[in-house]
Amino acid sequence: MRAGRRCLALIYMEVERLPDHRDLLRVCGAVLDAAHAGKARVTINNVVFDDLRWDARAGGRCQENARKVYEAATGRPMPGKACCAYRTNLNLYALHNAGNAQGVVEVVPNVEAGGQPEQALPGDYLYFRGTPRCSTCGVGVGHVGIWMGDGRMFQHTSRAGLAITDAGPTWSQRRRFCGAYRLLPRVEEGQPLPAAYTGRWRIEVLSDLTDIVARGRGTTWTDHRTRTGVPADTPGLIACSLPRGYCSVTEGSPFEGVPDFTVVKIYYAKTGKLVYAPVIDEGPSWEAMAGTGKPGSAMIDLTPAAWEALGGQPNTNDTLDIRVLKGSHELGHDAVRNLLARS
Ligand SMILES: [Zn+2]
Repeated sequence: MRAGRRCLALIYMEVERLPDHRDLLRVCGAVLDAAHAGKARVTINNVVFDDLRWDARAGGRCQENARKVYEAATGRPMPGKACCAYRTNLNLYALHNAGNAQGVVEVVPNVEAGGQPEQALPGDYLYFRGTPRCSTCGVGVGHVGIWMGDGRMFQHTSRAGLAITDAGPTWSQRRRFCGAYRLLPRVEEGQPLPAAYTGRWRIEVLSDLTDIVARGRGTTWTDHRTRTGVPADTPGLIACSLPRGYCSVTEGSPFEGVPDFTVVKIYYAKTGKLVYAPVIDEGPSWEAMAGTGKPGSAMIDLTPAAWEALGGQPNTNDTLDIRVLKGSHELGHDAVRNLLARS
């Protein structure tokens, strides 16, 4: 992209980030809102909460609902999940003691060790032991709630004809408190974000990978002149352009410092198609051809051939998943040179 002019646009992208405690609270809030609105069921991120109203035959389904909150918040199975609350509690305790492989931490001890529900922080899972016995495992099924702060707990209860509530723990529950577990990391509002975050770019580089992974808006563009000298309008050229921090608008992009010709793996979920495209320019911006015209419509610009290979409709744009393959620029450079030599 030519310096200056296109840089006047704002760029925004939605990106993959690791779930944290706020995602749990958002799901709890959405379920409670649906219950307060009198709904019997609500679907959040493809997870169905179908017992928002009390049903005496169904009884309390505390663990099931606590598990679903985790699943809706993360898209992953809940660690330690089992037949009943207390069995799950035992599993979480075992995970906590087994080197924290799934990130489970006991953050408040049981009541015998001085633990109180109020010592938990919002998003923590509170467990309680107690009767009746679980028909599957035989222990007292116990109870679970998700701490919401201010004395409130998200819970599915069999008390008083209620189902989903944000009531506080009862006196009887407090006596049976057997600890609070943190299943997701906490991100404090107002705290400095991790290094990869800026106000404009929100992305988390997955710690166990060397590549940058992101999800955002892709657009198509054609430019005869590019930063690398490779015309983006070359027929059949599968290539892309990334915002790489060369101007004030793209500053802070997670792609800052990615070298020219680095290969980007691009996946279009709608068609299930995948391409590998070397980076041949800086960008993108909202002036990219076939952008929505709204500032912030683009995360990655694709050549028309790349968009076509992904099965995209001409002159449209859409959400794409990308992986920037670190250290691949020599490979990408050779691929582009070979293509230009043939054309
Ligand atoms: Zn059980």
